[in-house]
Amino acid sequence: MDKLTLLERVFGYTEFRPGQEGLIDAALSGRDVFGIMPTGGGKSICYQVPALLMPGITLVVSPLISLMRDQVMALKAAGVPAAYINSTLNAAQMRAVYRNMLSGQYKIIYVAPERLDYPGFSSLVEKLHISFIAVDEAHCISQWGQDFRPSYLRIVNFIDSLAVRPVVGAFTATATAQVREDVERIMKLRSPYRIVTGFDRPNLFFEVVRPELKRSELLIQLAARRDKSGIVYCSTRKNVESVCELLRDKGYAATRYHAGLDEAERTANQEDFLYDRATVMVATNAFGMGIDKSNVSFVIHYNMPKCIEAYYQEAGRAGRDGSEAECVLMFNKHDIDTARFFIESDSENEELSEAQKTMIREQDLKRLDAMVGYCRTTQCLRSYILEYFGQTKHPEACGNCGTCRGQFEETDITRESQMILSCVKRVEDKLGYAVGSIMIAKVLQGSKEKKLLELELPALSTYGLLKDMGRSEIRAMADHLEILGYLKREEHDVLVLTPQAAQVLYQGKKVTMMVRKEPEVQKVAVTKLAGASSELFDVLKELRGELARENNVPAYVIFSNATLSDMAKKAPKNMSEFRKVSGVGEIKAAWYGKKFLERIADFQAEQGQ
Ligand code: ADP
Ligand code: MG
Ligand code: ZN
Repeated sequence: MDKLTLLERVFGYTEFRPGQEGLIDAALSGRDVFGIMPTGGGKSICYQVPALLMPGITLVVSPLISLMRDQVMALKAAGVPAAYINSTLNAAQMRAVYRNMLSGQYKIIYVAPERLDYPGFSSLVEKLHISFIAVDEAHCISQWGQDFRPSYLRIVNFIDSLAVRPVVGAFTATATAQVREDVERIMKLRSPYRIVTGFDRPNLFFEVVRPELKRSELLIQLAARRDKSGIVYCSTRKNVESVCELLRDKGYAATRYHAGLDEAERTANQEDFLYDRATVMVATNAFGMGIDKSNVSFVIHYNMPKCIEAYYQEAGRAGRDGSEAECVLMFNKHDIDTARFFIESDSENEELSEAQKTMIREQDLKRLDAMVGYCRTTQCLRSYILEYFGQTKHPEACGNCGTCRGQFEETDITRESQMILSCVKRVEDKLGYAVGSIMIAKVLQGSKEKKLLELELPALSTYGLLKDMGRSEIRAMADHLEILGYLKREEHDVLVLTPQAAQVLYQGKKVTMMVRKEPEVQKVAVTKLAGASSELFDVLKELRGELARENNVPAYVIFSNATLSDMAKKAPKNMSEFRKVSGVGEIKAAWYGKKFLERIADFQAEQGQ
């Protein structure tokens, strides 16, 4: 069978994604491969397809038990005999897997790196024909990566110990050059076929919001996404607890995950999320690696992460199956302080020398700056990210982010700027010390707050000049003036004028800013499905849920959201039409086709009445 036929029959896809074909061809021709593709780019196919076409067995080394289990489950659902070997198997199960391996029942075996040098495993392997070793999440071998796993170093010895060296493949989403070099060198890849695909994820919508009150903003954001599955990332355990409680109070099926919970609870909560018993996962960054759940429709960051690398990885867990998904970052200035605090405490690692600590801190602060830049930019958010990762080829405006959807328009704010700058000056003159942007905003709004009255600020000529504006609007403009260099932030976040401010104040220099056009709520992306097909989608989703419960697998193992949405659009009438739906292979069609066809016919009959 050729690779395209196999892709269609087993996985139900009619074409390869960028990068996949080259990697598969190279591996099949016996060459080592190194695939660098973003999360959701489709790396699994790059070793699963060769595994099914090569003689003998493919070993997939994978860092996490949950990852192995998910992938094996997905393969079995597509009719591919596969198994995993890790510490969760008891002796009897392990013997059964070994026996099946010897009798040639499996084409793909997932194995934890720790297992590779178990005596039992090595003596078994001697009797097998291993054609291909695929190392998933290969960056775990590099100490520079965030997820260094010493057990990954054993992979090299294992490969060296084999009588015949199999083809070796490495796969990762990590983009940094240092990690890439490490992977190639430490894994001793032999002039590998290397491919770095673009890091763009076109199906993800990116947006930054700057709410006054995050809790209410989160509720607004979630209200538009009821019934969808998503993750809310918070920077601290405390936030996870309080946000999760808030959501439960408001009737969301929310669960939580952070390192402070015991392992049993973490596992249980994670399962609840995977099996859609909980639709919202509220978590710290401890959650996510090895989560292959493909139907995550949104990732909301309640706090800003400390760098773009972390943000893109976490946000990238949305829309893995290629269907539309949204990534919203909620930003305010406290986030910067929290991130700084984490950077300071991270660099207090006792194993590091002073010089190393300083270097790490400086690097982290630089990364933080870039992250803050993302939150404040008025440029296309996607192009900002891609540029950060060094990808030069991309359109200037993507058409699918908060900026490009036209929520910003260039506005002349010269008058407002003059008021803000003069207010900063007058308050300082009056009080003899500088104040922060909140105080400035209050004065401009004409606040009747006691403290303001006591300080006699209403006497200022700028008092109440911007009383029709919201506080966050005024503060956003003050931020903007800071970015443009007219204001400077000093210790304790107080604002002072820079010499350049005179140009605006006295010489009428024009100031413009990109300002939002519509209120937040309307901007929530609408799904592309319209009318009947969106209703049918819900019907199909229900059936998927029933089948998942019957078979005791997560819903996305049956069909991904992308598959259901294609099915709703095509509304197949018979088996051959059903097979044309993207993501429907032979086995899944045989197992589930009849039920889905019936449900579709029922739906249409009802519609016709
Ligand atoms: P990665 O490991 O790179 O993050 P996965 O291998 O988990 O990505 O694949 C992500 C999703 O993309 C899965 O739902 C998978 O079925 C789907 N996918 C992979 N290859 C294709 C393809 N050629 N066409 C359509 N969907 C694909
Ligand atoms: Mg993967
Ligand atoms: Zn854009």
